[in-house]
Amino acid sequence: MEQKIPLSGLFPEEIEEKLSLSPSFRARQIYEWISKGADSFSQMTNISKSTRNFLEENAVLRSSKVTQVLKDPDGTIKLQITLSDGRAIETVLLTDKEGRKTACVSCQAGCAMGCAFCQTGQLGLGRNLTAGEITEEFLFLEKEAGTLDNIVFMGMGEPLQNLDAIRKAVAVLTDKKGRSLSPRRITLSTCGLVKGIYELAEKGPFVRLAVSLTTADPVLREQLMPTAKANPLPELKKAIMHYSQKTGKRVTLEAALLSGKNTGKESASRMVEFASGIDAYINLIPWNPVQNLPFKTPSREECESFLKILENAKLKVNLRVRRGAKIGGACGQLGRSASCGSSEFA
Ligand code: SF4
Repeated sequence: MEQKIPLSGLFPEEIEEKLSLSPSFRARQIYEWISKGADSFSQMTNISKSTRNFLEENAVLRSSKVTQVLKDPDGTIKLQITLSDGRAIETVLLTDKEGRKTACVSCQAGCAMGCAFCQTGQLGLGRNLTAGEITEEFLFLEKEAGTLDNIVFMGMGEPLQNLDAIRKAVAVLTDKKGRSLSPRRITLSTCGLVKGIYELAEKGPFVRLAVSLTTADPVLREQLMPTAKANPLPELKKAIMHYSQKTGKRVTLEAALLSGKNTGKESASRMVEFASGIDAYINLIPWNPVQNLPFKTPSREECESFLKILENAKLKVNLRVRRGAKIGGACGQLGRSASCGSSEFA
């Protein structure tokens, strides 16, 4: 075998086939070790020395490696991960006030969606991550922070543009014989690709859906999110309602609040109108500063007056506390230190 085979993200049958292993229980043993976060083949003490030597020569546990670990005093951890082709991505661990740990995982190196307020959006798309690379992000974070409770596909990239790899990574991470993460603990966040939402509703994985709405003002939304043109708000609303009805799950609507842009009374009223009839939870996220982008973080008062209008309309809404901003690990900030093909992550 010329190139060593990366094993994370593979099911036992695939490990068995790729390495021509027999008997087949060896592949299951390797799979269980990987799910438990083993770092080396030498840790696999229930596997014979000769098989471990064979594995050393022909396989690697993970194809990517952690090249930087940054820790924010608020408990947020950001990992910079270098992929086998030299591209870099970032993945973040968030801890809430109850101590629950959430992996915010990237699914692409860069992103093609070009949202005006997002660091990753300024880079363009490098490439899709493989299921193995996505699985590795989760395993690296567990290594750093202990057992994780949740995973959100909300890091770099648009998940609905890499759904096959996500489907596979979710299948591996939720496999009862492997890492056994509950599917109820998984959220996929999209910038609102209508076709992709229907595909998700059709083929799964039937995870929680979050939609980055940002604003329900159609003109402003097209200015801030170029994909809004091909995914107009009425169509988006229909797709969200379809997903919610099909899966029985409440959908999260997210809005990065940009001072003076989408925080006025008119914007709030439009959001109330958009959310009416949807079983939705609304997450308001004061914009996290990104160098060279022409936006401002709104003041506490600006956020609260927006929040109040939504609360008065009896919507379920939360104003999110900023986490990870000191290490560039907050929402919309990923990509500062990574490199994606020829372009530099801003
Ligand atoms: Fe891509 Fe998400 Fe950033 Fe939009 S917000 S550019 S979809 S990473």
